[in-house]
Amino acid sequence: MNDTYRHKGLRKKLVEEIKRKGIDDKAILTAIEKIPRHLFIDSSFLQFAYQDNPFPIGHGQTISQPYTVAFQTWLLKVKRGDKIMEVGTGSGYQACVLLELGAKVFTVERIKALFDKVKVFLPSIGYEPRFFFGDGYQGLPTFAPFDKIIVTAGAPSIPTALIRQLKVGGILVIPVGKNDVQVMTSVTKTSETTYETKECGMFRFVPLLYDKEK
Ligand code: SAH
Repeated sequence: MNDTYRHKGLRKKLVEEIKRKGIDDKAILTAIEKIPRHLFIDSSFLQFAYQDNPFPIGHGQTISQPYTVAFQTWLLKVKRGDKIMEVGTGSGYQACVLLELGAKVFTVERIKALFDKVKVFLPSIGYEPRFFFGDGYQGLPTFAPFDKIIVTAGAPSIPTALIRQLKVGGILVIPVGKNDVQVMTSVTKTSETTYETKECGMFRFVPLLYDKEK
């Protein structure tokens, strides 16, 4: 694995930037300092890997901005041993952050080419979530319930299947919006039939796509 002192230095600076933007959770910052983000994007764009920006990963998709990854992870209140479903595997970077925090990660991707790539790449650098090729709108009913669910693409509304697959007391973090800007929403399931939502600022994600849009 090509991870040099220069890369490590750039990661330290990135962590400082994310800290300045308001994230002070030590475990999350340590994960970001450890994970070699430059390996998640095409090697000809190395200089962009440690800027706090999203970046294209092909097929019209992006690796999320590091600050956004940190913020969504913080909203999830991850505890060691949590069983977490991620909708939108993409590059696999967010899944690695969750694994670093000691979660068991079940990650779903609907674009076959990205799925095929990530399920070889992540284990090659030592990260082993469970990979699923499928439609995140449906979740993973066979593996439910989950302690936490994170959606990393913009959804027009909160998918009911995902709420159903959450444990009571569990948290779903999802960017909700019909256009290209979404409201980061933290949903806590308060009983089998009720949930509370909290709005946590505006973000910009690629849209969560229905299977028929493939
Ligand atoms: N978490 C990713 C960010 C990926 S961008 C990372 O860390 O890199 C959003 C991803 O969601 C894309 O890979 C896209 O293909 C995927 N996606 C979009 N709609 C989906 C759906 N209905 N089910 C599962 N994945 C979906």
